[in-house]
Amino acid sequence: MKKILITGGAGLIGSHLCKRLVSEGNFVICLDNFFTGNAKNIENLTKYSNFKIINHDIILPFDEKVDEIYNLACPASPVHYQKNPVKTIKTSVLGVINMLDLAKKYNAKILQASTSEIYGDPLIHPQPETYWGNVNTIGLRSCYDEGKRCAETLMHDYHNEYGTDTKIVRIFNTYGPNMARNDGRVVSNFIIQALKDKPITIYGTGSQTRSFCYVDDTVEGIIKVMNSPFSGPFNIGNDKENTILEFALIIKKLINSQSKIIFEPLPQDDPVQRRPLLKLAKEKLNWEPKVSLENGLQKTIEFFKSINTPE
Ligand code: NAD
Ligand code: UDP
Repeated sequence: MKKILITGGAGLIGSHLCKRLVSEGNFVICLDNFFTGNAKNIENLTKYSNFKIINHDIILPFDEKVDEIYNLACPASPVHYQKNPVKTIKTSVLGVINMLDLAKKYNAKILQASTSEIYGDPLIHPQPETYWGNVNTIGLRSCYDEGKRCAETLMHDYHNEYGTDTKIVRIFNTYGPNMARNDGRVVSNFIIQALKDKPITIYGTGSQTRSFCYVDDTVEGIIKVMNSPFSGPFNIGNDKENTILEFALIIKKLINSQSKIIFEPLPQDDPVQRRPLLKLAKEKLNWEPKVSLENGLQKTIEFFKSINTPE
């Protein structure tokens, strides 16, 4: 039985990862400060003897012998990571150093949840792992983007300097059940608005693009990277690209909603286009996303219908 630490295990991706690794018979420790995560996302796992929750902030050192670390702790929604930008950077720098020191001490494998945001507002499309990115160091998104870039550098340098077994996955927009209702990202915003027949808020003209990946596909990709002999970085996401306007219309149609579409100002440095090149993951990991946007959204819509979303 492997002992696996999942930081950020109460969040969207972390909760699905916890469930999967517990069901496969591993001993899983979910470590979370519950900043954006929700205990409800993992409460059905507490009945298992091979699952433990620890309320802890990764900015502080943590000591427990483990075999593998999935470092997912970090708010992912722009609304939340911009609330306290200095804390966001600390999570991606001090937090990652703490987790790397833990991996080094116990000779554990460590995987860092990096992001498509390290490509910034990309000038190359679609984005291959070899692209260095186009990132503003002093914008609203910089605390997240530069923090995550530094986290990648730390992974690389612990590997080279101390021989730590490090892995990097660059996750592209992932959605699914267990997204927080106040998450603020586009998928939950649009679904909640459409379910209530309230205006769907498009920022800018809606011509910017994103490529949405269902959480089960992302989790499968992350696990494949952890179990591979490769350090990465690997893009993990879906390469089907939509404009945000198209995306709003798809959700409206799936829900049969009466919502109007309204346009609000585009936030600073909002990337114009984003789509992963998945060649590396396909070739090296034999991984590719399987869940269609319609099927994934249907499951996510059912989730939001099943929880009480306040007015
Ligand atoms: P999420 O906000 O749902 O989950 C993040 C979790 O980390 C939450 O449970 C939160 O409480 C916890 N957390 C935050 N700061 C912490 C700290 N200092 N100490 C301990 N716990 C802390 O986000 P998510 O979508 O599940 O994302 C998980 C990871 O994947 C993040 O690192 C994120 O940057 C990365 N990622 C996600 C996406 C996506 O589209 N979902 C895309 C790219 C990268
Ligand atoms: N967006 C939008 N309306 C919303 C929330 C987001 O039009 O209510 C846009 C946002 O400006 C961005 C895209 O949707 O262009 C994806 O935003 P999200 O916050 O989900 O993630 P990002 O990929 O920008 O980090």
